[in-house]
Amino acid sequence: MANGNDHSTTKTTSTLDLIDNKDYLPVDTHIPDNYVSYTLKNQKALPPVTLENFWTELNWLHVAILGFTPIVGTVGAYFTRLRWETALWAVVYYYMTGLGITAGYHRLWAHRSYNASRPLQIALAFLGAGAVEGSIKWWARGHRAHHRYTDTDLDPYNAHKGLLWSHIGWMIVKPRRKPGVADVSDLSKNDIVRWQHRHYLKLVVIMGVVLPTVVAGLGWGDWQGGYVYAGLLRLLFVHHSTFCVNSLAHWLGEAPFDDKHTPRDHLITALVTIGEGYHNFHHQFPMDYRNAIRWYQYDPTKWFIWVCKKVGLASHLKTFPENEVRKGQLTMHLKRLREAQETLSWPSDNSHLPVVNWESYQAQAKTRPLICIAGFIHDVSDFLDEHPGGRHLLTKNVGRDATTAFFGGVYDHSNAAHNLLAMKRVGILHGGAPHGLEDKMIPPSQRLRVARYNEIGGSGYSSAAMSDGEGLLG
Ligand SMILES: [Zn+2]
Ligand SMILES: [Zn+2]
Repeated sequence: MANGNDHSTTKTTSTLDLIDNKDYLPVDTHIPDNYVSYTLKNQKALPPVTLENFWTELNWLHVAILGFTPIVGTVGAYFTRLRWETALWAVVYYYMTGLGITAGYHRLWAHRSYNASRPLQIALAFLGAGAVEGSIKWWARGHRAHHRYTDTDLDPYNAHKGLLWSHIGWMIVKPRRKPGVADVSDLSKNDIVRWQHRHYLKLVVIMGVVLPTVVAGLGWGDWQGGYVYAGLLRLLFVHHSTFCVNSLAHWLGEAPFDDKHTPRDHLITALVTIGEGYHNFHHQFPMDYRNAIRWYQYDPTKWFIWVCKKVGLASHLKTFPENEVRKGQLTMHLKRLREAQETLSWPSDNSHLPVVNWESYQAQAKTRPLICIAGFIHDVSDFLDEHPGGRHLLTKNVGRDATTAFFGGVYDHSNAAHNLLAMKRVGILHGGAPHGLEDKMIPPSQRLRVARYNEIGGSGYSSAAMSDGEGLLG
């Protein structure tokens, strides 16, 4: 509030006036409107990784970390007896450091989906360091780019480049290009995030290796087991568990909310990622503290945040309006229904049929079996012997108007009969469909059909635009 009198004296409001702290101007404040296409076209990218250039393109620090853990961990396990206390501790510490990433790095810092008290932030910053996946600031910056530029080359773990790339490839070789711009100025203001970034290497050693070893060593005398199982192998599992959010969660499962991009929902992914497997939902509603919206779906990270709220460590848990969530689901349902609808054959409509007068109908009905029902003329020649009520009920109506007989006068026909009849249309009787007959003319299968907005005559969109004189644009 250094410029406390701004509000009373400012006449016009520029973008900059809306930013509360000018010392931390977001890096994307002046981003051009065509940023993605412009950057992809003009920014130089490193050449694609091939078998020939593979060795020169490796990021050796990442290779060392991601290679050392499985090799020393498995060799160590071969020579180290696993005690049950250590096994239990390794699993507990897996969840603790995993939550440091999912509840801390991801949902708190990358997405601001809730507020955490200082003690909770400090705990998550420590535990997240124990997962050895970079500092909060580095991780959240890449992840925000991943959400903003999903499935493009500005997304550091672009899923279109294959499962191996999105899982680990993007880390073991030098990045092909800089991740797209994403603002982390809110994190630069956070002293815990800054502190963690500054002391990151020390924290990795303490939380990644020393603490799990010391707990098992001082606790039940298993120093070697603590190092191998709770330190290295636990770290191996935490790594590949969280890497699966970028790979498996963009590859396996359903898209119940939006199928424009690769994120998917699947229970298996949720099980291996401490609840981050409802990734289609997450990409649609990234600021929601939940990934799973149903109580029976596996999302321990959500449960952890909820418990933190109950004990006063977290607040302002954000959720997206249920109405909008369900709208996304309905959109996908309608899309599936539309696809099913397009695999079927439908009756000819008015615009594709010849209009004939009563005399012409009479004349033509002498040469083939034509029946008029609800204004449409139908050729029933291939149905005479199939008619469940017998051939005679059709032949006696040839050349006549059988609307009343068809709609309950003789027999109240089923939906299936109505649908089938519509497929036999060959013409429209001139003046034969008075108003009020729409209900009879449209077969049951088409009354609730899925139609694109531009297929509906006089859609709400055009009339709204026409009458906007006093509205938004007025
Ligand atoms: Zn994702
Ligand atoms: Zn995310």
